[in-house]
Amino acid sequence: MNTAPAAQGAETTGERTGGCLCGRIRFTARGPAVFPHTCACSHCQRLGGTPVMWWVGFETVTWNSEGGEPTWYETFEGEAKRGFCPTCGSRLAAIDSDIPEIGINVTALDDTNSTDLVPIHASFPDNAVHWLPPMPQTPHSAVG
Ligand SMILES: [Zn+2]
Ligand SMILES: [Zn+2]
Repeated sequence: MNTAPAAQGAETTGERTGGCLCGRIRFTARGPAVFPHTCACSHCQRLGGTPVMWWVGFETVTWNSEGGEPTWYETFEGEAKRGFCPTCGSRLAAIDSDIPEIGINVTALDDTNSTDLVPIHASFPDNAVHWLPPMPQTPHSAVG
């Protein structure tokens, strides 16, 4: 990939790092944050052990620790797979055949505070748990 010197630090173009809880798997994501959203589908709930997962897409993700890539589990064979650390179980990523970006669990990023990670959409609201308030409208909601 492009390793030429480039402007760094801009929120929408800079590199972002992340990894799993135990540190076996580390990654660098590049490109703008694409379609940050939450998802309450049954796969996210069951795989994540959580009522809702928080996703964002990036053009490229490099798995750059000795642990290599996550272990992939195909949720829809040949169409979608989810990546997790085989040691600590942290959820890290998803690849869908019809989506160009690599999905990253925002919670795996080292810095989750960037404003461009604020969800612009809530997927599968009908499957959301009843005791958690719906995601409020965000300043970016109109985009999604
Ligand atoms: Zn781990
Ligand atoms: Zn989901």
